[in-house]
Amino acid sequence: MAENGHTQLLVIGAGPYGLSTAACAQRQGMETLVLGHPMSFWRENMPQKMMLRSGPDWHMDVAREHTMMAFLAERGVDPSDVSPIPISLFLEYAD
Ligand SMILES: Cc1cc2nc3c(=O)[nH]c(=O)nc-3n(C[C@H](O)[C@H](O)[C@H](O)COP(=O)(O)OP(=O)(O)OC[C@H]3O[C@@H](n4cnc5c(N)ncnc54)[C@H](O)[C@@H]3O)c2cc1C
Repeated sequence: MAENGHTQLLVIGAGPYGLSTAACAQRQGMETLVLGHPMSFWRENMPQKMMLRSGPDWHMDVAREHTMMAFLAERGVDPSDVSPIPISLFLEYAD
């Protein structure tokens, strides 16, 4: 953020869509400021043992680089071993 308090893009809320938007904008070289604690709704309001209804093909990177599948591959995890995806794993991916 510039010293005068201005930013090119202000993203209000750091949920999946906010973070995804911010990542996309930053990749385009846009100065971006995100308000809020990353994934706080997911961390604080969802059951800790919840399983996602979305599969591993669901991800937060419009450039399709940092996908959930890429995250699992990096860790040597077979997607079929984490289906459905536990929320704890999804939060690790988001982090
Ligand atoms: C129990 C449950 C299970 C779900 N499972 C799935 C699933 O498996 N797959 C799926 O696709 N979707 C699922 N969803 C839907 C899921 O909530 C959305 O897909 C996703 O969280 C939407 O992302 P978002 O970034 O729009 O909103 P949110 O995740 O709600 O994030 C918005 C964030 O903005 C913050 N915020 C709001 N106002 C402000 C402010 N003024 N200043 C700063 N921060 C602010 C909030 O605190 C929050 O952290 C589920 C929802 C619930 C309730």
